[in-house]
Amino acid sequence: MSENPDLFPHDNSLERLPAPEREKKMDEKLQKLISYAYEQAPGFKKRMDKAGLKPSDIKTIGDLQKLRVLRKDDLIMLQKEDPPFGGYLAVPLGDIDHVYQSPGPIYDPQRKTKGLPMGPDFGKGQIVMNTWSYHITPAGLLVDRMLRGMGFTVFPAGIGNTELQVQVMHDLKATGFVGTPSFLATLIKKAEEMGYDFKKDFSLKFAMVSGEMGGEPLRKMFTEKYGIFCLGGDAYATADIGSISSSCEKNVGMHVNTDVIVEIIDPVSGKVLPAGEIGEIVVTPFDEVYPLVRFGTGDLGMLVTELCECGRTTARIPKIMGRSGDAVRVRAMFVHPRQTDEVIARCPEIANYQLIVTRVENRDNMLLQVELAKEPKDKEAWAKALEKDFAGVCKVRFDKIEYVKAGTIDKEAKKIVDKRTY
Ligand SMILES: [Zn+2]
Repeated sequence: MSENPDLFPHDNSLERLPAPEREKKMDEKLQKLISYAYEQAPGFKKRMDKAGLKPSDIKTIGDLQKLRVLRKDDLIMLQKEDPPFGGYLAVPLGDIDHVYQSPGPIYDPQRKTKGLPMGPDFGKGQIVMNTWSYHITPAGLLVDRMLRGMGFTVFPAGIGNTELQVQVMHDLKATGFVGTPSFLATLIKKAEEMGYDFKKDFSLKFAMVSGEMGGEPLRKMFTEKYGIFCLGGDAYATADIGSISSSCEKNVGMHVNTDVIVEIIDPVSGKVLPAGEIGEIVVTPFDEVYPLVRFGTGDLGMLVTELCECGRTTARIPKIMGRSGDAVRVRAMFVHPRQTDEVIARCPEIANYQLIVTRVENRDNMLLQVELAKEPKDKEAWAKALEKDFAGVCKVRFDKIEYVKAGTIDKEAKKIVDKRTY
């Protein structure tokens, strides 16, 4: 598939030679190709042997007719018999940057790009599925470059096409996966639905999973249930800025990296908030190409400045608490649907809820409406516990709880409704 730039250099002058001279040069090139392929590609040697041919039998372009045409169907068969390249890969896998899949399916190797900065070569000879998106947003290409720099061969999988990706991961005996923990979980589930025993039938040994909050339980499952070694913790990055923060081995929030400055601001007043208060994450990257100074991410979070046991002294963002637009500011604190969902999720007694914010005598008022799935045993104590839990998570108390009939609250309705007018 890929030409070898050293063995067969491109020669512009060939195009303008008198035809007989060019044909002579082309014949020479062909002889070189045939003996090279015969030695390096076992699949080609087999084909020649089958036809009773030696490399010396093919000296001119005319001699090529001695060899039966290799059809797409043949290649599909060959790749099935001798995966993944049907014996036509003429260089070590470590020399391959990418593997692509064309309809058939047929796997096509693509040779390494020259001049890529090389890191340690520990990825050599291993195929990794890169499931970050390759188009529109930069993650796919950035990670791809990094992986190739480490010596890996990359299958540029991108996102989606779950069933196809399972097939590719299986056929290519991919040893690595890069992407979000939830997508890896989806692939494993799909593989099991397709009748595979993931641990037995696949070769996946490691996963670089990040880009999501709360991936820890999944990482644990990958390791314990499937023997997949997980690299990377929770990470926070945006398409505009790139990487902003990532968790360390202690897994106690994501350290802000030193290539950016992070401020937390009050989305309403624009004032910078002290550590421990929730607001919009504003980032200034040290980037000479794209210096987005004080870029508002629209994400809600806070900074924790207590020293981390890992020895890093940088501030941490414990988690992303949602989009600042969905949050409602109540008595100087932000309440986000993710927080209220978190509280309510702990109460199996509640079927549905809505938090209604109003302004009563110049004070923000929060009414928690709930539809009960079942009656709590000691309703008063139960409500007290809920109130306490709510205050703990949301950092602000609701004023009243109101029980409404099942079906009163629209299931699609916003979880927090702001009815204040100023
Ligand atoms: Zn740390």
